[in-house]
Amino acid sequence: MGRRRRRWREPVYIWWGAIAVLMIAAVFFGAWRLALLGVAAWCLYEFSLNPTVCRVMTRQGFACHEPVRGRLFACSAAHQRVKNDAVWRSFGLPNPFSRATSHDPNRDTGVVVYSPAVRARLAQNDRIVLTVAGVASVLAILVAVVGIVGS
Ligand SMILES: [Zn+2]
Repeated sequence: MGRRRRRWREPVYIWWGAIAVLMIAAVFFGAWRLALLGVAAWCLYEFSLNPTVCRVMTRQGFACHEPVRGRLFACSAAHQRVKNDAVWRSFGLPNPFSRATSHDPNRDTGVVVYSPAVRARLAQNDRIVLTVAGVASVLAILVAVVGIVGS
């Protein structure tokens, strides 16, 4: 356990509280721009800020429990590659950035080699939240653009 540092991580409700304050202020002042900011903040939080664990499935079928920040990110470069593939795959697309070498079974990486069957599996709730946050950020950008053009 020597590698596992105990870092202080803020409780999740601090983020939710800040976003709730933004949304309440938006309703109170009738300011849609503030609401938009709240939605954008939530998306950013889910993508890259929330304190969570890596959760990449290893070949043995265990979910990696290293702490990470943001659902899009993983604990190491090797896990990040797996996670990138998983995110693309959850949208039904092959990862356009993955190199062909990752499909070479004889590749000598010096790290755990993931079999194609178990790589690219996202936890169910990560997949749901990432999809919702992805849709929400596209909507937020659209509303912002329409709002700027329309005003
Ligand atoms: Zn990991």
